[in-house]
Amino acid sequence: MAMLAPRPSILSVEPYVGGESKLPGVNRIIKLSSNEGAFGPPPGAVAAIQRMATEAHRYPDGGSKALREAIGARFGLDPARIVCGNGSDEILGLLILAYGGEGTEIVMSAHGFLMYDITGRWAGCRIIKVPERDLTADVDGLIAACGPRTKLVFLANPNNPTGSILPQAEVDRLRAALRSDIMLVLDSAYAEYVDRPDYDAGARLVDATGNTVMTRTFSKIFGLGGMRVGWGYAPAEVVDVLNRVRGPFNVNAAAMEAAVAALAEPGWVEKNVAHNAEWRLKVTEALTATGIKVWPSQGNFVLADFGTADRAKAADAHLKSRGLIVRMMGAYGLPSCLRITIGTAEENGLLTEALGAFMAGIR
Ligand code: PMP
Repeated sequence: MAMLAPRPSILSVEPYVGGESKLPGVNRIIKLSSNEGAFGPPPGAVAAIQRMATEAHRYPDGGSKALREAIGARFGLDPARIVCGNGSDEILGLLILAYGGEGTEIVMSAHGFLMYDITGRWAGCRIIKVPERDLTADVDGLIAACGPRTKLVFLANPNNPTGSILPQAEVDRLRAALRSDIMLVLDSAYAEYVDRPDYDAGARLVDATGNTVMTRTFSKIFGLGGMRVGWGYAPAEVVDVLNRVRGPFNVNAAAMEAAVAALAEPGWVEKNVAHNAEWRLKVTEALTATGIKVWPSQGNFVLADFGTADRAKAADAHLKSRGLIVRMMGAYGLPSCLRITIGTAEENGLLTEALGAFMAGIR
């Protein structure tokens, strides 16, 4: 029996493997591998999910109206120009499906977020990865890489996994230099953690220029990664396209209610931002003091470079033996690095202590 073959581009993609959440023989796991936010879900969101359990037989609101209105009110945006998705991954993928595809090109930074590459490849796009300067996107390189087939340029700002950020003037320069019919996707998944006064998560550029989209998520600062809610803010024409290609009920009812409740949680963002700023610095300083190179980060994680892939692997094994799970960066082309999420004060303490012991052991 011959199996039906999928489109060839599908087989160029490896199935996505998420980070581990269990370790054999280890009772207490400390998971610092997926940038999930230090404090768990907001209490109001937990209550909303519980409340929705008895409504599980009902289809959700297919247009995510209440959520779009809550997002619009929070961020000062027109709800009609917002599209919600099953994580911002879905919005990114829909943009690629709608505007990319066979015969088109996607331009991204060499260590940009992996999903642009994965979704772009299975959609049949050619992916052009532009070398970086100090693990930061190079605007001149991105501009130069665009050709007649380029449909989309993706920029995560701040970027995962590097933590690097482009100054706002550079983002503006990128948009101004791109052909107006190229879609610039500003992926602002980590926007809340940025402490640069000039930073704009993207709404201003979306409003000022035609083909610009901003994507955001409830998976990071709002602590709802497991609920899968993200959103995009885009010109009306792009919203219309996304509404044609998205599934009719692409955000589930509990996720929608949880996201609305998360937006309403008093002091949540402020508390998380303050904690992250404090501990991002403390973790950076503590690891640097042990001889590990830590790249400056504007996200809720740091990228720690151990110099060689073997040493990064050994550090990872050492952490695992203590129940600490971080993310190896081989799949991102950074095999000498581990990406470490900022956790609670206790978790961060255990992490820095464990890596201190590891580094002391190899001296
Ligand atoms: N963009 C970036 C830069 C990310 O790091 C992530 C999460 N890893 C996403 C988008 C996707 O997030 P989600 O689908 O959970 O909204």
